[in-house]
Amino acid sequence: MALVLGLMAVLLVVVVGFRADDASDDAPRREVASLPRTKPSAKPGRTTPTSKSGSSGPSSSREMSSFMSAVEQDVAGYWGGVFDEARLSRPHVAVAWPAPGDSSSFSCSRTGRSDDSTAAYCPADRKIVVSIAMAQRIWDGEVRANHDDTEGRTAGDFSLAYAIAHEYAHAVQHELGIVTGDPRTTRYPVVATELHADCWAGIWANSAYREGVLEPGDVQEGIDAAAMVGDYAFDDVQHHGTPAQRMAAFTTGYRAGVATACDSLLGTNA
Ligand SMILES: [Zn+2]
Repeated sequence: MALVLGLMAVLLVVVVGFRADDASDDAPRREVASLPRTKPSAKPGRTTPTSKSGSSGPSSSREMSSFMSAVEQDVAGYWGGVFDEARLSRPHVAVAWPAPGDSSSFSCSRTGRSDDSTAAYCPADRKIVVSIAMAQRIWDGEVRANHDDTEGRTAGDFSLAYAIAHEYAHAVQHELGIVTGDPRTTRYPVVATELHADCWAGIWANSAYREGVLEPGDVQEGIDAAAMVGDYAFDDVQHHGTPAQRMAAFTTGYRAGVATACDSLLGTNA
């Protein structure tokens, strides 16, 4: 159990609470309801963010890093369009993909640095860090927060794309004041913001689908990745939702394609 909880703590988590005295949280409080209720128009000419489904993944850290950057830029472009349409200034999100054995500054870690198991957004830094080693494990379907192997059978590039889109969703939540980085001022339970982020990952997947950049099997990889990181630790404050809840949240977003379709997930209590 300790191993599972330890994994959950680093896995696809918006890390809250390590800096309860965080004074850098000056994110403007904007309501999610201010986001547009229509799908942004498709942007032709977008580069394909996903490739190599079913393969074992990029053969070098540099290739993995460029794939991750392509996905992140696509996700950022999607949310940038949504914010533009809402006449909000675009989110500021720093990213780092440290190579195996390397690290990046990360205030949400006790050491202040990331490690090879980091895949998270840190509100205090306004930064997403996904280590290349962790990215490879996500791509390979080796990251699991439950023992339910009836869920989550496929993995591949879109498993990783889902993870990056999920972390970016936390950055957008932070920008909108949905999460603050301080449990005393965050209005929603962890499970609610996690399922909401899964739903917003699905929203981005919808935009990728509409622009024709998904390959067969990609959406299933996203759904299965959500299942793999679902957990049954109902008594843990870091409970992120069951596999079924996380799959349903991603699928809700994917089917709807509109950010506000995920609002109801913020009402999730357990
Ligand atoms: Zn999360």
